[in-house]
Amino acid sequence: MTVPWPAPRYVEDLPQIADVVVIGGGIVGAATAFFACKAGLRVVLLEKRPALCTLTTPASTGAFRLQFDNPEEIALVREGIELFEQFADRTELDGYDLGLRKQGYLFCATSDVGVAHQRHFVEALHGWGVRDVELLSGDEARYRFSYLSQDIVQARFRASDGWLDPKWLTFGYARASGAAIVLNTTATGFVRQGDRVVGVQTPRGTIACESAVVAAGPFAAQVAALAGLRLDLRPTIRHKLVIPELPALPADGPMTIHEETAAHWRPGLRGCYGLFTDPRTPAGEPLDNVPTSADFAFRLLDPRSPTSLARLSPLWESAWDDGSLYWLLQAGQYTYTADHRPLLGPSDVDGLVLNCGYSGHGIMASAGGSRMTVDAMLGRLSENPFRPQRQMLERPLDIL
Ligand SMILES: Cc1cc2nc3c(=O)[nH]c(=O)nc-3n(C[C@H](O)[C@H](O)[C@H](O)COP(=O)(O)OP(=O)(O)OC[C@H]3O[C@@H](n4cnc5c(N)ncnc54)[C@H](O)[C@@H]3O)c2cc1C
Repeated sequence: MTVPWPAPRYVEDLPQIADVVVIGGGIVGAATAFFACKAGLRVVLLEKRPALCTLTTPASTGAFRLQFDNPEEIALVREGIELFEQFADRTELDGYDLGLRKQGYLFCATSDVGVAHQRHFVEALHGWGVRDVELLSGDEARYRFSYLSQDIVQARFRASDGWLDPKWLTFGYARASGAAIVLNTTATGFVRQGDRVVGVQTPRGTIACESAVVAAGPFAAQVAALAGLRLDLRPTIRHKLVIPELPALPADGPMTIHEETAAHWRPGLRGCYGLFTDPRTPAGEPLDNVPTSADFAFRLLDPRSPTSLARLSPLWESAWDDGSLYWLLQAGQYTYTADHRPLLGPSDVDGLVLNCGYSGHGIMASAGGSRMTVDAMLGRLSENPFRPQRQMLERPLDIL
């Protein structure tokens, strides 16, 4: 089947000149290209691999939420959700379907500590304008979602959180941008005039430019270092368990999350995706091939594990006892900053702009973050809470 929308504008010959060179062809690079082209700039996007969107972005679950613990990130994601909802109109890709599902995020507490945390958090969210988050008793939660365990004593729920297909979103940005996209081409260095970056080097030649945007995901620090800029970015392996088929799970259910351990699943394919964030995983080097560990699956699925999904629903205990569950593992790297917020906008090297460090939120924040990066680059942003030069406080690990 051929799709009715134009293909991204792939070019074979390396362009010699651009206003902006975007380095990286994941969701963040594609979104940057989209907003930069919308601003009337000539954009070249470089991707070192043979296709767009093949490293971190397709390993993600594509989920979005407004249940954040600060108003700045809420605003960043809110802007993206507004774009996702009107994507076909705003990109002029008639009928383009992102696979958007608003099935909600349901955080379930099983302890007194979890209950107290949820009460404070929901109050804070209401104060930040996210008024549609509900606090449910265990019985109310079970009444709405009958699969939930008797151990759940309280839940917070926002029906309008949800997910989409991250690959379709990336290709939507790329298609709608009209940027010249060069595959199989690595940015290997920068041309400098005095202190200013005035070009990007590749093994196939140099592209002269006004600005270069680093959107290289886990490789962002490595790319910035080519211009002598040191970034504190911490690529950290995260897994996704893919269960292609599990008819017992309701396909119209929400993302269901254990508040205390962050173990969660959301419907996907004819089964679900299962995840949790292990706070003990150390940061490491950026990887082109991210290995998986079988242990991750057992920690989610074995009912004896403290991070088992069985804590949320007896369905999981039955699925484990039954023994017939098939699963696959995928992994990518979260690119953490010290405060778990992205680095957006001009860096200390003239002409070098950052759009990276999304710390596990790069799908939902791709639109807001890339629009802000382009506006900051063009000097049309009066306030930028994500500027790379901000003072950063170490933030304890977020659960999602
Ligand atoms: C398991 C998992 C689940 C996740 N779930 C969610 C979720 O539900 N919601 C959410 O918002 N986020 C989620 N994330 C985070 C999200 O996937 C990332 O924040 C996002 O994909 C980052 O996109 P990116 O474009 O910056 O990076 P990438 O997708 O990694 O793209 C970077 C690209 O840059 C290219 N590149 C690198 N160096 C160079 C170079 N020198 N020259 C040219 N190209 C180069 C790479 O080849 C790569 O294609 C999840 C992540 C993981 C791992």
